[in-house]
Amino acid sequence: MQKKAVVLYSSGLDSTTCLAMAIDKGFTPYAISFSYGQRHSYELEVAKDNAVRLGAQEHLVVDFDLRLMGGSALTADIDVPKQGVGSEIPVTYVPARNTIFLSFALGWAEVLGAFDIFIGVNALDYSGYPDCRPEYIAAFETMANLATRAGVEGSGSFHIHTPLISMTKAEIITTGLALGVDYGLTHSCYDPSPEGLSCGQCDSCRLRLKGFAEAGMKDPLKYLK
Ligand code: ZN
Repeated sequence: MQKKAVVLYSSGLDSTTCLAMAIDKGFTPYAISFSYGQRHSYELEVAKDNAVRLGAQEHLVVDFDLRLMGGSALTADIDVPKQGVGSEIPVTYVPARNTIFLSFALGWAEVLGAFDIFIGVNALDYSGYPDCRPEYIAAFETMANLATRAGVEGSGSFHIHTPLISMTKAEIITTGLALGVDYGLTHSCYDPSPEGLSCGQCDSCRLRLKGFAEAGMKDPLKYLK
């Protein structure tokens, strides 16, 4: 029987590639997405449309509202920066987001009897978020095995897979294309138009477009400019 894995899936380029890589490694993926009050909630529409199409056994959307706390350009009335990636942690950082997301994923994994969790974090072409670093992931994995009944009494131990962590965006795109990923079924923009067109200027769009350019491929998404 194939092993189950919980895959954090936002419909973005990275998490969609991560889902394809989990399948390629022989896992049956259970995709989890989060409706957390993000301004780019369009990504959830894309996720709902495509998770099962991309091979997820099930798709769970967890609903909570980080706008109650604010503190990020993605969850409060703060402009999404469009000037390119700087050296400081940007205002699109969402306080403790990956810890919150991974905690839900861990809970679902324990219920499913899965010990494997995939997250498409990336420490190279990324926006400088502290919860994308390898030392953070290692710490969460240690915590997961201390925090759960499955970790203490179960037949295995939790492993947080980060197959993209040391890949460039271009390598991620090339890998995904080799696995048959249709990047027309993904969404990356932090600040899309009401019709879902990507802005082409936010950090997420810039990293994505740079990745396609470096891979020598054309991004199938439509952009405002
Ligand atoms: Zn954008």
